[in-house]
Amino acid sequence: MKIFVTGGAGFIGSAFIRYLLSNYDNKILNYDKLSYAGNLNSLASISNNKNYSFIKGDICNKSHLSKSIINFKPDLVVHFAAETHVDRSINNPEEFINTNIIGTYNLLDECLKYWNKNFVKENTFRFHHISTDEVYGDLKKNEFFSEYTPYDPSSPYSASKASSDHLVRSWFRTFGLPITITNCSNNYGPYQYPEKLIPLMILNAIENKPLPIYGDGSQIRDWLHVDDHVRAIDLVLSEGKVGETYNIGGKNEKTNLDVVYTICDLLNEIKIKKNSLQFSYRSLIEFVEDRPGHDKRYAIDNSKISKQLGWKQEESFESGLKKTIEWYLNNLSWCKEVQKGEFSRQRTGILKSNYKQK
Ligand code: NAD
Repeated sequence: MKIFVTGGAGFIGSAFIRYLLSNYDNKILNYDKLSYAGNLNSLASISNNKNYSFIKGDICNKSHLSKSIINFKPDLVVHFAAETHVDRSINNPEEFINTNIIGTYNLLDECLKYWNKNFVKENTFRFHHISTDEVYGDLKKNEFFSEYTPYDPSSPYSASKASSDHLVRSWFRTFGLPITITNCSNNYGPYQYPEKLIPLMILNAIENKPLPIYGDGSQIRDWLHVDDHVRAIDLVLSEGKVGETYNIGGKNEKTNLDVVYTICDLLNEIKIKKNSLQFSYRSLIEFVEDRPGHDKRYAIDNSKISKQLGWKQEESFESGLKKTIEWYLNNLSWCKEVQKGEFSRQRTGILKSNYKQK
């Protein structure tokens, strides 16, 4: 099988490629523009694998994308490429509209042309779209996001992902393109760009920098280890029904504050701060202005994927978080490498008054 992966140099895409290459004999082409969030270092362990190739390409460049698909002749397209950081979508929504909406349209359109030409009789082609639970918006206590929950996105990021989901579904209903979609909860694990909550807190803590908590930190997210997400995608690709959407989530609801407390306590336990037994990483916590439009709660009802496809998570949040912390502590050179340039873990996503007036 030949698999065309977009965004394979990012956090989840690279975990997916590493997983596929160690479990199957598939040919994989990673098509990634290498934005600030895309790093080939995350794929160093498999870069010499004979089944792996890479093209630096932008899904917003339709003619380049078209040539790359036609030359590679994929049986399967798995679409991870996106702008993904909510805070950045507040300061610079245009990038999100371009990549997440127009880029997804380009990919759908080029896949449809390619599929119409090559797969008219044998229906083995599949377009799989990776999405997020954030498209469903804010959730009340005791409710869960199911595949039937109406979309109600709050941020430019989640609105652009919602838009891309609608486009993908419409390419199935209108043109018959064989698609599947997964909407997953918050992922954590190795190789996540250090602007996201968990790596940001780990790296700030070990440098004795403040740990910024947005608002009062009571926002609830449903955390899933990236390897459990990747296994779920694999299952949907092999067993999922064309045209269907599957929600993926680990039933690990935690407030942001609890996540940070746990990171602090695990760091204390790992005793990397050896110089003072009195020191508590929790003392670095600082409460800062909340994110505008910050959703209070996300939580996934995973009964469809569990009952219909037999998926279940393997990693508990506690063990997964400990392993993740250890991974960051052992891979500080990766962290340093990916942060070079414009990003120094500064706060983004605060409304500027001139931006509001536009
Ligand atoms: P990431 O930001 O770590 O990586 C995104 C990748 O896409 C990068 O390698 C980047 O270079 C590439 N990319 C960006 N714009 C591109 C373009 N125009 N053309 C080609 N490549 C481009 O993201 P991630 O966390 O790995 O997320 C991957 C997908 O999973 C996204 O679609 C995201 O919406 C979805 N998702 C993420 C989470 C999460 O918690 N991280 C949860 C659910 C769903």
